[in-house]
Formats: sequence, structure tokens, C-alpha cells
Amino acid sequence: MNGLDCDVAIVGYGPVGQALAIRLAERGRRVTVVERRAEPYLLPRAVHFDDEIARAFAAMGLGPELATFSEQSDFYDWQNAAGETLLRFDWSGRGPGAWPTASMFSQPDLEVVLAARAASLGVVVHRGLQPPASPTTATGWS
Ligand SMILES: Cc1cc2nc3c(=O)[nH]c(=O)nc-3n(C[C@H](O)[C@H](O)[C@H](O)COP(=O)(O)OP(=O)(O)OC[C@H]3O[C@@H](n4cnc5c(N)ncnc54)[C@H](O)[C@@H]3O)c2cc1C
Repeated sequence: MNGLDCDVAIVGYGPVGQALAIRLAERGRRVTVVERRAEPYLLPRAVHFDDEIARAFAAMGLGPELATFSEQSDFYDWQNAAGETLLRFDWSGRGPGAWPTASMFSQPDLEVVLAARAASLGVVVHRGLQPPASPTTATGWS
């Protein structure tokens, strides 16, 4: 790849890079992302977000889609091997913005939704690009 024709280049297309790309593209910036993985990473990692993050997702235009990749979780129990509850967190209800206090989700599913939103805003994503071998080799990804 020779050069990047964009206002903002983002390195890494995890959820943070995706969210940043969306927020910039919503504001009219031409965004290009370079991601070293050829394909999205499909194993689950992050599993929970709160009402503030739900509000942030809604601000990115994803409010109607929240229910497609997450579900409200009223209680979070820590159990021992016998299934006895040792500790219970009460996350029931909704926050000041009316979004659920706690939602559980699958990170790969979230990333699909974020990627679709970014694509709809014209974000350009180059996957499978390796970073330069040395910081002095400033010719970009290959
Ligand atoms: C096993 C595991 C369990 C987890 N469980 C939880 C949990 O229960 N709750 C929770 O909140 N969080 C959890 N996390 C953390 C959560 O997954 C991360 O906080 C989240 O993925 C961070 O998003 P990110 O976009 O900052 O980084 P990442 O998701 O790591 O994305 C960064 C991207 O940048 C790319 N990249 C990096 N360097 C370069 C480069 N030089 N050039 C091009 N591309 C590059 C990477 O390939 C990657 O795709 C867990 C993580 C792991 C590994």
C-alpha cells in the first residue's frame, strides 16, 4: 500500500478503533484504518457494558441495534464449584439515560455491528497489513 489518502488514519480495528472511526466519520472526516489481522478475531473477550456505554453506542446510531448483540443482565453472581452463590451484584434497573444498568454481550458480535456502522459511513479498512519492521522504515504498511 502506497500512502493513505484520508484525514485520519487509525491503526487497529478493535472496538476502540471502530468506535473512533465511527465518531470521526460521523463528523465528516475521511477515515482509513489499517489492521494487521486479515480477519476479525472471533473469540469472545469483553462481555459486559454499562448504561453509559449503551448511551455511547446510541450516540453512534446503534440504539436500535443494541438488542441484537446484547441483553440486559439484572444480577451478576459469583458462584463456587458447587453452584452456591458467594456474591451477588444487583445491576437491575436502568441508568439516568434510561439504558439498562448492565448488559451482557459477545465481543465478536459487537464488532460486526460496529464494522457495519463504520462501513455505512464510508470508513475504509485495510486488513492483513503488517506494520513496518522498524520505526525508521517510514514507508508505511506493506
Ligand atoms: C481473554 C480475554 C478476556 C477478556 N475479557 C474481558 C471482559 O470480560 N470484560 C472486558 O471489559 N474486557 C475483556 N477483555 C478486554 C477486551 O477484549 C479489550 O479491552 C478490548 O478488545 C480492547 O479493545 P481495543 O480496540 O482497545 O483493542 P483490541 O481489541 O486488542 O484491538 C486492537 C487491534 O489493533 C490491531 N493492531 C495492533 N497493533 C497493530 C499494528 N501495529 N498494525 C496494525 N494493527 C494493529 C490488533 O490486531 C487488534 O485487532 C478481555 C480480553 C481478553 C484477551
